[in-house]
Amino acid sequence: MKSYRKELWFEAPERRAFINITPQVEKCLWESGIKEGFMLVNAMHITASVFINDDESGLHHDYDVWLEKLAPHEPVSQYRHNRTGEDNADAHLKRQIMGREVVVAITHGKLDFGPWEQIFYGEFDGRRKKRVLVKIIGE
Ligand code: ZN
Repeated sequence: MKSYRKELWFEAPERRAFINITPQVEKCLWESGIKEGFMLVNAMHITASVFINDDESGLHHDYDVWLEKLAPHEPVSQYRHNRTGEDNADAHLKRQIMGREVVVAITHGKLDFGPWEQIFYGEFDGRRKKRVLVKIIGE
């Protein structure tokens, strides 16, 4: 069995962003040389997500509006977590609902996606460098 590990770095210029990381992840798969197996992609920070969905800007806007309704950033004083001096309680909650990781099957050297599936990095407390872990196992 082969294994491959890589950290991808991102620095979103805004507090919140959705970034299609499918091209970087496909490059990892190519570097690994693995043709059959599984790929794990996870955010290494508790205020960011990795998830799979459609690369459609209207949908990403809808996610942002929906997440802001569920866990508004302001007023930051509404959250007990922010009593620590942080202002990112909403980002922890948004990350929880959008998920930590995805697992994708690898078949014939390609990511075995369903229709329109793409992998996204979801940033909820950006403007700093953060990492995504890519782990691939197989042969
Ligand atoms: Zn925090």
